[in-house]
Amino acid sequence: MKKHNFSAGPCILPQEVMMKASEAVLDFNGSGLSLIEISHRSKDFVAVMENARSLALDHLGLKGKGYQALFLHGGASMQFLMVAYNLLEKKAGYLNTGTWSNNAIKEAKLFGDVVEVASSKDKGYNYIPKDFSVPNDLDYLHITSNNTIYGTQMKSFPKGNVPLICDMSSDIFSRQLDFSQFDLIYAGAQKNMGPAGTTLVVVKEDILGKVTRKIPSILNYQLQIEKESMFNTPAVFPIYVSMLTLEWLQNIGGIPAIEKINNKKAQLLYSEIDLNPMFKGYAKKEDRSIMNATFNLTENKLKEEFEGMCKEGGINGLNGHRSVGGYRASMYNALSLESVGVLVDIMSELERKG
Ligand code: PMP
Repeated sequence: MKKHNFSAGPCILPQEVMMKASEAVLDFNGSGLSLIEISHRSKDFVAVMENARSLALDHLGLKGKGYQALFLHGGASMQFLMVAYNLLEKKAGYLNTGTWSNNAIKEAKLFGDVVEVASSKDKGYNYIPKDFSVPNDLDYLHITSNNTIYGTQMKSFPKGNVPLICDMSSDIFSRQLDFSQFDLIYAGAQKNMGPAGTTLVVVKEDILGKVTRKIPSILNYQLQIEKESMFNTPAVFPIYVSMLTLEWLQNIGGIPAIEKINNKKAQLLYSEIDLNPMFKGYAKKEDRSIMNATFNLTENKLKEEFEGMCKEGGINGLNGHRSVGGYRASMYNALSLESVGVLVDIMSELERKG
């Protein structure tokens, strides 16, 4: 039986993408060779890279607006330092919304001064700080649009006079936004895009080339752009799967279409969390994420029963992050409304039994 996969990442991908990806591993484009045994410089793979980069910009509405898309190594964690290496000359601002922001701050401190413009640490990161100002003397402001661990999501974005850098790892391609308000967006592939192993970076070219330090080649965005994201051997399989997922998204109507489904899934689950006395949500209501819903049982004694029912219903990956506990239902683009329905039915069944 295929499981209902609520895993936070790596996570569910569209079934048709899995099928096509597995075909390409055996025989890529009818070539008699596997996707993973051909040169990354071959015509067929260069076409994959070009298509993936182009689709990413298309989906975000950033084609022809001075942006470049790159598929790099090292995960989103590499971007924590690459952003600072390339952009931090004196001082950068960070909005602290949890573990991943903290990790980004830690790396940035190696390169210059870091100001925390606001933090939600006081309440276990269960909300998004809103009333803060953005100093004009920052090299950039860094934010995390969706906080995977706590289930909070930014609904509006700070307006300032400095470049805005966004870690969009866990909600990229899930909702419509004016993506041109960001100067650099990065996201590890392993949530809404593909397998772990590649990271999408979308960068506005005119913010680059301003720091005085020397940047090692592989960490230099300008060089990566010049080399068309092929400075060294790229992660061919994750990039191919990302391309397939971006094609799948295009075929179903792009971000506007998936956003509607994502909202429906989130509404279904959050209304159960709110109406069912056996459960309580973790994140502040106005800041709830449509990708990761965090919640817990009101009475711990039901834990075994609830988890047994989930197991029986084929629910996978519902455990909360170890730092928060409880449960986390990750509802990425490829998760169906039906899967959320199965979870919600189990939750209401628990109420009936209790
Ligand atoms: N940022 C966010 C918002 C994340 O959710 C994660 C991983 N879950 C990371 C960064 C780190 O990503 P990676 O493992 O690709 O370095």
